[in-house]
Amino acid sequence: MFFVSACLMGENCKYSGGNNLNEDVVAFLDGKEYILVCPEVAGGLKCPRSPAERCGERVIDQDGVDVTDAFLKGAKMTLDLALEHKPELCILKANSPSCGYGTIYDGTFSGNKVLGNGVTVDLLLNHGFKVISEKSLKKD
Ligand code: SF4
Repeated sequence: MFFVSACLMGENCKYSGGNNLNEDVVAFLDGKEYILVCPEVAGGLKCPRSPAERCGERVIDQDGVDVTDAFLKGAKMTLDLALEHKPELCILKANSPSCGYGTIYDGTFSGNKVLGNGVTVDLLLNHGFKVISEKSLKKD
C-alpha cells in the first residue's frame, strides 16, 4: 500500500486548478495498491486557490492570508488515513508546502528553495512513515 500526492497522478487539485502528472510515478504504481491524497483540498482549500508557502510554523498564501489552519487540518486528516492504512511509502510532490520532502519554497514566492518539509510531511515523518518525493523515482 502506497500513498501518493493526487496531483502527481493527474488529479486537478493543484493551486492553479491543474495537476502535476508524473509518468515515472504512474509507471511505478502500475499494478500496486495506492491511495491518492491531497492534504490542501482535504483541509478545505478550494481549487483553484492562491499559492501558499511555509513561513516558519505558519503557511501564508500569496494574498497574505494565513492558511495554516487548513494546512494543519489536511495534514491531520492525511495522518489519520496513514494510521488506518499504514502505507509502506508515501510518494509526495516535491517542494510543496504540504507535500514537499527535503526542500520547500522559502516563503518569498520567488522560486527560492530552502531545506525543510511540507506540513503534512513533517507530521507523517514524526509518526514514523516513510516519505520520498517523485524526484527519487526518476530513471535518469
Ligand atoms: Fe498536490 Fe499535495 Fe498540493 Fe495537493 S497538497 S495539490 S497533493 S502537492
